[in-house]
Amino acid sequence: MMASQSFYLASLMLERALANPNWTAATEQRGSYQDLEKVAVILDVDETILDNGPFQEKLIVEDTQYDSDEWDDWVGLGRAPRLSGAVSFVRRAEKLGVSIFYVTNREHKRWKETNENLRMKGFPVSEDGANLLSKYKQPDWDSDKTPRREFVARTHRILLLIGDDLNDFVSGSRTPDPSDPDPAYLQRRKVAEMHRNMWGTKWIVLPNPTYGSWERALYKVGAECRNPADDEVRKACRKEKLRQKYLHLEGH
Ligand SMILES: [Mg+2]
Repeated sequence: MMASQSFYLASLMLERALANPNWTAATEQRGSYQDLEKVAVILDVDETILDNGPFQEKLIVEDTQYDSDEWDDWVGLGRAPRLSGAVSFVRRAEKLGVSIFYVTNREHKRWKETNENLRMKGFPVSEDGANLLSKYKQPDWDSDKTPRREFVARTHRILLLIGDDLNDFVSGSRTPDPSDPDPAYLQRRKVAEMHRNMWGTKWIVLPNPTYGSWERALYKVGAECRNPADDEVRKACRKEKLRQKYLHLEGH
């Protein structure tokens, strides 16, 4: 229901956006973007319009953690269900003359399977994957989605960004600024607060408490926690983080 709620809000905001020629949702939109005739909505894929719950369930059943090979196998199956409300929103936007771009950190080597997965679930896709901007489709399209938003912003006025991770909305959320003394999670909070007027209006966020760039930002205990190599390291990082958080409660 939270997804339905998000897409209902998105459809209301889309009407406002279409009525306002100065409206843009992208901080990457520069210059005289008001002159652009084409308009677009950018959506993330995983946990925004496709639900990888079955993959997460498999990890629980097998008592294991995320693994990139297992993930690749799952993506290759092309069987992720859709999140509620997403298809009707996207179809409606398309009818209103809005271009749809899917900006995903699924790797480009699996674009066909992802394109087919989206098509099977009712999402409009191009046969050649032109509106699926996956990671490394171009050499500089790495995990930071900023260059892909810039790519769309050159030809389209971007009306809404819809995603489940700070990286789906704004740059500066994946790599902490070394010149900033604040820990990574506080830097992210500052970025989010700097754009407080965007949330719920131009930026529609869906909840994802399972995974995301927020998790690494919480750890300040050693470099190994920034990119946990295996299950045991990840568990130790999580426990240490919680121990630090509740340290003041110990002995009470
Ligand atoms: Mg996502």
